[in-house]
Amino acid sequence: MAVANPIVKCTVDQCTHYIPGDQCMAAKISVYNNEQDGQSSQKSDTQCKSFHQRKTVGDMIGAVHNTNVGGMIASTLIDGKQITPQVECFVNTCKYWHENNLCDASAIEVSGVNAASTQDTDCKTFEAR
Ligand code: SF4
Ligand code: SF4
Repeated sequence: MAVANPIVKCTVDQCTHYIPGDQCMAAKISVYNNEQDGQSSQKSDTQCKSFHQRKTVGDMIGAVHNTNVGGMIASTLIDGKQITPQVECFVNTCKYWHENNLCDASAIEVSGVNAASTQDTDCKTFEAR
């Protein structure tokens, strides 16, 4: 049976893909294990590999005022649609992990306060098998 793609909520507002409303406008995100031991036994071992840090406050303001992004947010709100990226995940120790690197959760949350690198982000929905 096909696995539905989870809705992604993300609170990592340091990321260039973040948009207000805790949504992610990346087309696809990849969730990885901690690079040191290549395994995840807890949430903090996971990371959103698609994180890309905004370098300056100007970047952030530029992205928010970017006309395409503004248009996308407006049309999304008007249509009542949720923007959500395709999720691939390599954390096969998670109970939601599904073969072919899919995630079987109905929704996931990515977090990372003041994230400066991918390793500062976590999939908060991770649960060990
Ligand atoms: S950290 Fe990941 S989920 Fe969050 S906005 Fe960036 S790419 Fe999207
Ligand atoms: S909930 Fe589990 S399977 Fe889904 S993206 Fe997060 S770590 Fe991967």
